[in-house]
Amino acid sequence: MPYVDDLTKAKNAISLLEKILNSVGVFIYGKDLEGRYIYANQAVLDLFGLPIEEVVGKGDEHFFDLPLSKQLKENDDIVLSQGVAVNNEEVNVVKSTGNTHVYRTHKQPILDEHNKVIGMCGVSTDITEEKKLQKLVTQQKKLLDTVLDNIDAHVYMKNCEREFLYVNSKTAALFGRPAEQIIGRNETEILPEQMAEHFHLSDKKLFDTNEKQVINEEAIDELGNTQHYLSVKIPYQMEGELPALIGFSSDVTELYQLKEMFRKQSITDPLTQLYNRRYFVERAEKEFSRAKRHGHDLSLISFDIDHFKGVNDLFGHPVGDAVLVELAKSVLGTLRNEDTLARIGGEEFSILLPETSKQVALTVAERIRLYQEQISYSGILPEGTSVTLSLGVASLSTKDDNFDLLFKRADEALYQAKQFGRNRVSEC
Ligand code: GH3
Ligand code: MG
Ligand code: MG
Repeated sequence: MPYVDDLTKAKNAISLLEKILNSVGVFIYGKDLEGRYIYANQAVLDLFGLPIEEVVGKGDEHFFDLPLSKQLKENDDIVLSQGVAVNNEEVNVVKSTGNTHVYRTHKQPILDEHNKVIGMCGVSTDITEEKKLQKLVTQQKKLLDTVLDNIDAHVYMKNCEREFLYVNSKTAALFGRPAEQIIGRNETEILPEQMAEHFHLSDKKLFDTNEKQVINEEAIDELGNTQHYLSVKIPYQMEGELPALIGFSSDVTELYQLKEMFRKQSITDPLTQLYNRRYFVERAEKEFSRAKRHGHDLSLISFDIDHFKGVNDLFGHPVGDAVLVELAKSVLGTLRNEDTLARIGGEEFSILLPETSKQVALTVAERIRLYQEQISYSGILPEGTSVTLSLGVASLSTKDDNFDLLFKRADEALYQAKQFGRNRVSEC
């Protein structure tokens, strides 16, 4: 009886072992020295679509398209002839179905008691889907890299600890280092302190509010030029990671310069390069409000060239133009930085003098009058020809409700100066 018991036990053990080998979801097999199957688990049989009796004793040439499954044969040959284990991938084509599968394979020699190779066994895991996914991820990463590296914008990712998680090649070029030397490092290590702090301001606001930010930013390029950027930063959080942001910064330097140029053109007199009437009034209204609010002084000088028509008539319009240019330069040279000189129109000019009393403004006006009377416009006008001015001065009084009233009073004073004989200063 004990013999029967042992046999039953052994049968049970084998049956259990078979169940295990058939349930692990991998391909398990054994082959003899000639490569003929000595064992194949259910997964292998299912793959071939054959019962065990039709598999055992046969070689792989019956089941696989061997010319298309080169690695399979090579791996088997290495294990059987060299007696070493092999771990790698195989692309196998099943003959009966024509299906191609990719396997991660571990093959091992079977040794007898004298360590002589008598066959081999193997475990293969089907990684076809994993490989497809991997290929998709690689393709998508390549696509994304191509797009991001060719987009005309700086694209980057940073976390709330100011560590770069990604930079595209345009950003790497701006920072003057390869991307690998930027990613994983703190922006304070990569950027000049001032630039890093400038960027951090809007980053901080994003992390504080968790809201998209659209801002204008500046950076100094490798030649020391200021570049202007329009930046859009959006919050981005990956599971289990620190809060981060994705930033897109477009270089708007040309647009910025163009805007600046248009702005300058819109407020500049093209002949004298002084401010024009439009800017003067805009500026004066601001200064007027400020002076009223704080009870500060504010004065205005308006002046007009005497008998300028005669200059044009005698020497021609281009000479008249040259006089206007020269006059603008010379008057500008006598003023403080905070004063604003503008060409109001024709040969009329105004000066806004903040924090200046009537008394001081009268002195300034007289100084300008005297200076103009004395200087020669050599190279423009004949020797001994002088250009004289009539000037009107007005200062802010408590009765003035708006700048226009002050402007009008300066004009009245100028008219008086003309009336009283020109080349003089009047006040109102
Ligand atoms: P007054 O002393 O009364 O100011 O005499 P005026 O001749 O200066 O005055 P009026 O207003 O009669 O003439 C101003 C002249 O300024 C007429 C105009 O041809 C000249 N003028 C105005 N703008 C320009 C300019 O841009 N270039 C030149 N060359 N002349 C100008
Ligand atoms: Mg005039
Ligand atoms: Mg005039």
